[in-house]
Amino acid sequence: MLSRKFMVLLLVLLCVLAQAKVVVFLYHRFDDARYPSTNTWTEELERHIKIVKELDFDIWTIKDLEDYVYGSKKANKDAVVFTVDDGYRSVYEHAYKVFQSHGVPFCVFLQIGAVGYSDYLTWEMIDEMIRNGVEFANHSFSHTDFPALLSKMSENQMLEYFKTDLMKAQRIFKERTGKTMVYYAYPYGHYIPKMAEILQQEGFLLAFSQNPGPYDVSYGAFEIPREPLLEDWATESHVRYILSREPLVTENLPFVLQNGILTVKSKIVVPKEVRYATLYVSEKGLIKSRLENNTVFGETALKKMYNRLMISARDGKKEYLRYYLVFNAQGE
Ligand SMILES: [Zn+2]
Repeated sequence: MLSRKFMVLLLVLLCVLAQAKVVVFLYHRFDDARYPSTNTWTEELERHIKIVKELDFDIWTIKDLEDYVYGSKKANKDAVVFTVDDGYRSVYEHAYKVFQSHGVPFCVFLQIGAVGYSDYLTWEMIDEMIRNGVEFANHSFSHTDFPALLSKMSENQMLEYFKTDLMKAQRIFKERTGKTMVYYAYPYGHYIPKMAEILQQEGFLLAFSQNPGPYDVSYGAFEIPREPLLEDWATESHVRYILSREPLVTENLPFVLQNGILTVKSKIVVPKEVRYATLYVSEKGLIKSRLENNTVFGETALKKMYNRLMISARDGKKEYLRYYLVFNAQGE
């Protein structure tokens, strides 16, 4: 007979299995003191890997994440995916051997137009890394802040520009490696929904933002959040903290921005019972909010072109959160 204690344990386990989360780590440069704001020390990277293993997260390839998002892979437990943006040479010179020695897969999002320049990877380095299982993905040709172009051109012109840049990167990568990239990371994490539509039309399978927070499969395939682990955010306590957070799920898109006024009305479905909720906007910090029947309300005036809105909720046990990019083409 199964003991009562075991049954309870099994039940707890099943609940955990039912709602796996994925935390995508984001790095840029390694062991490069010249650029502190985008640098991570490989000593810190090793600690991150150790923490992830100690906390019993699975470590996935980006292909695992694709399979999970499209339903052909089941998650046995929460998972972490390692990604590195831009394709700086320090990935090859410093991080590559650390990842390899720990058996940790990772994906490099390449700024294709920069390959071969002094601070960036060369095609030879990329070839070698591909042979050893490193995955590469598209981070544009020119690293343009595409939505920002809307302050000086029409939406159609901007989208045309985005698509031309995207396909140029695709063509060059295919010519040099024989491979087709199917994942995209928006430069600066800046995007509008129509850019995601173009990616989908062109056969891309996943796209990544720079909104922090864990990923829930209900978020879809084209705005996958990532946690930047640099500077103060590379510390052990921060990494443990971000791995403890759960994805917040809302019923609909929880905000509108009209004439510079951000109005939040967020009906939260995960967690089921919200005890506390907070709203944070990058330009303003915490803003005043009201909670009623699992719905959080708030309003504030915004000046900047880009803001990140964070909705955070607690059910008494855990913190749940989701970040949204709030874009205003008329903003400063
Ligand atoms: Zn970048």
